[in-house]
Amino acid sequence: MDILEKITALAKRRGFIYPGSEIYGGLAGTWDYGPLGVELKRNIKNEYWRSIVQKRNDVVGVDAAIMMHPKIWSASGHLESFSDPLVECKKCHHRFRADHILPNAGKNLKPKTYNLKPNQCSDCGGELTEPKQFNLMVEAYLGIIEGEKQKIYLRGEITQGVHVNFKNIIDSTRVKIPFGIAQIGKAFRNEITPNTLTFRSREFEQMELQFYIKPEKKEAEHWVEYWKKERLNWYLNLGLNAKNLHFREHKDDERAHYAKAAYDIEYKFGGEWKEMEGIHHRGDWDLSRHQEYSGKDLSYFNEETREKYLPFVIETSGGVDRAALFFLADAYFEEELSEKDKRIVLKLHPRLAPYKVAVFPLLPNKPALVKKARDVYSLLTTHYSLLPIVWDDRGNIGKRYRAQDEIGTPYCVTIDFNSLENDDVTVRERDTMKQERVKIKELGDYLEEKIK
Ligand code: ATP
Repeated sequence: MDILEKITALAKRRGFIYPGSEIYGGLAGTWDYGPLGVELKRNIKNEYWRSIVQKRNDVVGVDAAIMMHPKIWSASGHLESFSDPLVECKKCHHRFRADHILPNAGKNLKPKTYNLKPNQCSDCGGELTEPKQFNLMVEAYLGIIEGEKQKIYLRGEITQGVHVNFKNIIDSTRVKIPFGIAQIGKAFRNEITPNTLTFRSREFEQMELQFYIKPEKKEAEHWVEYWKKERLNWYLNLGLNAKNLHFREHKDDERAHYAKAAYDIEYKFGGEWKEMEGIHHRGDWDLSRHQEYSGKDLSYFNEETREKYLPFVIETSGGVDRAALFFLADAYFEEELSEKDKRIVLKLHPRLAPYKVAVFPLLPNKPALVKKARDVYSLLTTHYSLLPIVWDDRGNIGKRYRAQDEIGTPYCVTIDFNSLENDDVTVRERDTMKQERVKIKELGDYLEEKIK
């Protein structure tokens, strides 16, 4: 089994990720997050928000509507150029992204300009069509009168919801350039080949920062380097293995229509480098286009220098689902403890782990142990950084440890007969499997310190 199969099986078995609409045969490119997945994803988003917005005084947040005026997508260039090159097998009609199956093909592949070799379908050997650009925007219809419904688009990226609020934010807050606006939210793309668990979905979440700067080349170069470093460190600080991360600069023919420079943070997944987050120099593309299409003045006025200009934008755009998938893959280990004893362990950073602590009564049929364990559980729930805490009284203690290892719970707390006399518990650490006795009255602070 490769890592993708292992993660897919674990995700389903333990309640991280399920195929969308599964009991109806599924809906390609959609996924549902289960009880553990929803915690993991929420932790990723909270960490992002804390580091990008709450810990800084030069970034503010927004949460824009998913449904926006359709003119926004004309202005942003998405209706014209938000597309991927599609080829189809003339025999079995399977569709592929040309830039994924043809060596050295960029995303902006133009029909007839690329020598299609080998132009054979990998499934049946049939001949492939010439590539044609396929628009990824998902359409929807709003309104109550049949025939008068307005065609809109579910946003293909969350970025535009920020740019159309640039003026609102300048007018309603005290931000001054350089400053950023961050957002986390859903985006929708009619992907040609949704695949690889959540890696390429048709509905997914993005976490983004649009950082507005003076429109000067030097400034742009400085901030691109700054944000590349910041974003790489964020992943490293949350435990991703440095060996599995690198930057890749986009080639001229693959840059998006708005980008002046673009770098991807890539993660090595199953032996292949895959995009996880993009850092883009968008120039003044977005604001100048929205200014033109809306007829509103979107320029920035610097009171001190009396300069008026349209700022440049440096963007960092990451996928929450891709990050979650890569955090899972990076944390996945199979360890041989002895000849007969193997464990699967998710060595997730404690701040990302779905449950921070598991509480066990040694035996589920001894009321005194269960009561004491319930008291410990309640006590720990008053420490917010330890939430959520899971209760487990099934099977024997060894099985419970294995079950918690497999979902990445960093600490297990066992209440045994000694606990009744000495008011202490056993704390077992996930990665080292070391055990320690800790007094109940010190337990909350002890675990909080560890999780920090
Ligand atoms: P790709 O080349 O893989 O299609 P992209 O270059 O179009 O991706 P961007 O438009 O830069 O991606 O989106 C920013 C981030 O959003 C990506 O780095 C990725 O993490 C996430 N993302 C984009 N498309 C998807 C998708 N279909 N499913 C899940 N995450 C996605």
